[in-house]
Parts: sequence; C-alpha cells; structure tokens
Amino acid sequence: MNKVLKNCTVLNDDLFLEKKDIYISGDRFVDFVEGDVEDMHSALVLPGLINTHTHAAMTLFRGIAEDVELQEWLSTYIFPREAKLTEEDVYIGSLVGFMEMIKNGITTFVDMYFFQDAVAQAAKDVGMRGIVARGLADVSGHGAEKLEECENFISKHTDDPLIRGGVGPHALYTCSNAYFEKIVRLAHSTNSVLTYHLLESPSERDDYKKRTNVESTDFLDSINAFDERTIIAHGTHLNGKELNLISNRKATLSYSPISNAKLGNGIAPISEALLKGVNVTFGTDSAASNNSLNLFNEMKFGSLIQRAHEENPTLMKMEEVFKMATSNAQKPLPFDVGEIKSGMLADIIVVDTKRLSLMPEKYIKSHLIYSFDTSSIKKVMIGGKWIYDGEFTNVDSCGVMKSFEKAVISIDSRL
Ligand SMILES: [Zn+2]
Repeated sequence: MNKVLKNCTVLNDDLFLEKKDIYISGDRFVDFVEGDVEDMHSALVLPGLINTHTHAAMTLFRGIAEDVELQEWLSTYIFPREAKLTEEDVYIGSLVGFMEMIKNGITTFVDMYFFQDAVAQAAKDVGMRGIVARGLADVSGHGAEKLEECENFISKHTDDPLIRGGVGPHALYTCSNAYFEKIVRLAHSTNSVLTYHLLESPSERDDYKKRTNVESTDFLDSINAFDERTIIAHGTHLNGKELNLISNRKATLSYSPISNAKLGNGIAPISEALLKGVNVTFGTDSAASNNSLNLFNEMKFGSLIQRAHEENPTLMKMEEVFKMATSNAQKPLPFDVGEIKSGMLADIIVVDTKRLSLMPEKYIKSHLIYSFDTSSIKKVMIGGKWIYDGEFTNVDSCGVMKSFEKAVISIDSRL
C-alpha cells in the first residue's frame, strides 16, 4: 500500500531540517507516489534509531542486583536465572524489551541471546526490525550444537523482511580459540553480522594473555574477526594501536557508555576512536546493566562523559553523535535503514515538538541530544507500517505486562 505523509519537518542524519512530503511505496521511501494521504501538521520526522548491542530478554532481570561487583552480579544473580529460563520467558522478556525500544524511538536492533526463535517471534509480533544473533559459548559444553542452531536460524531467515540471523560468540573468555575460529568462518560463509563482547572490563586483556600468551586483538585479527560486518561490543579497554587496526579493517564499535559506567568498567576511548576513523555506534546493552533501553540517554551521557574525561567541550559534535545512532549504525547491517531518502526502508519516528524540554523549537537539533524526552515520540513506523501511535498496533500492552510479571515470579520460584 502507498502512503503520502504531507507537511513533515524532516530531520536527516546530518541534522539538516527540511519541510517536505514523504512518499512511501510498500516498505520503502520513494521520490513520488499516489496513495493514502496523512497530514502530519509540520511534525518532526526522524529516521528510526539503531541499537547495535542489546540482550532484549534481560528486561526480566532489570533491577535484580544493584551495587555489586561484576563477577558477583553475573554468578549470583544473572547466570543462575538464565539457566532456568524457558523459551516462553525469553519471548515475553524480548517482547517487553522491543516495546520499550520502540517507545524510545529505536526501530532496528542487534540482539545477542539464546532461544533465538523466541526472540525473532517477539520482534515480528510487535513489527520490529533486527539482527538476532545466537549467543555462542563452549566453556560449559554444547558448543557444536549451538553453532548448528545458529547456522539453521541464519538460513531460515535469508528472505525475512524484518529479521536476519547473526553470529554472536559471547566473548573470548567464554569461547575457546578453536571454537571462535569456527564461528568466524560461519559468519563469513553466510555473510552474516558477527558480534561479540571485547575488552569490556579492565581484567580481560591480561586474563586472556596469561591463558594464551597472545594479545586478544592479535588472535582475532589472525582469524579475520574484524571486518565490515563485525560489531564489537564495548571495546572499553582498546588501545590506540588496536583502534587503528579496527579502523583499517572497517569494523564497527558499539559504544555502551551507561552500561560501562554502571558496571564500573571504565570509559571507552571513543573520541580517539572517532579521530582514527573507527565506525562508532551506540548500544544500550541489556536492561540488567543499564537499566533503560533508550539511545537518547546514550547519546547524551556518552558524549558528556567523553568531554568530561578529555576536559574538552568541542568533542562529540551533535551531528557526529546523531549519526552514531543512525547512518553509522547501518554500515555493518544488511538493512537499508538510518536515513530518510528514496530507496531506503521506511523506518521513522514522529516527534511532538510542543514540549517544555524541546523549546525553543528553533534549536531542536541541540534538544535531540541534550534535553530529549522520549514521551514526545508520538508515532513509530517500521517498513512502511505504523506499529506505534501512542498504543502498539500489533500487541496488547496490558496483556504483555501481565504475562511478563508472571514470568518473573515464575523464574524466581524455580531457583
Ligand atoms: Zn552485552
């Protein structure tokens, strides 16, 4: 079906504002088409944001353990619960995660978790686009089985309009080198997004070197684990030489400043990475370590903490920061998203600018980064379909919230 959105104030990823009509044919923007006309009354229309690192189902664990060390957080609170999760739990947790992302203006995600069919089903049910990467690890066995599941999932979703499979080795400390190498081969042979956690916490570099006598990034480069389809999550402790390498290999770095700060993992070298030409994007990480799934928060906090750290208020310019959440994030993905222009997928968010925190309206570009309130997002379209207009069009929010609370109680009862 064709759509004409009349009288839009369009803001593209370079923060250029333009009054125009938007034409949509099927799931893409076109130069012109006749169709159902909707008057947008000068509302601000932005490209949907892209969350390049998340574990959506972990909304189930939001708030369960605060103010504890990372290892205690993982081993006492997260891992025992994850071991008890069912496919239904992952479905409802992912659905809540995707609904929260949509309300916050995110239209595309890169997720890493297990029960990947349930994650994909949740995304399709709400109408969201994304990469579903099967989380992979062989430390506790079943590595080959997981890799096979990952491969099957990828081949099942090659033509899906919303979902593609990805390859998600968890990290070098949960995958053996031989296993990691096999995983990378699968990503290359299927031309899939490869995404993994790297040097997130301060001890990872030395731990790996002690174990193997090699630098983690040297090993990864030797197996071609940095390329255009690679998304490195965190990289909080990458050094200058490694940033050059990642830049040369055209890999993408997903910056999760709030999760890094909350878990006491440090400040990623993002201003340096940008200077070296690394493709940097934003990821929320999970609701257990953030605790919001909101890229507007990441844009503000992520740019401010770089300025504070470097004692330089000219770093992280607004246009650069917005691109990190839109067109930069598109680069490793197989979807034409992140910009409002002919030929791209019609994924947009519509903002009501008549809000206290968005005044004066003439400086709206600045407000998007520094004073944005996501309750101003009135509508969200993915692939030419309105999936949120104050209510979700495809799912019953009340029913979902009830099932979610039940699932949380049930998981705790299994411990
Ligand atoms: Zn993560």
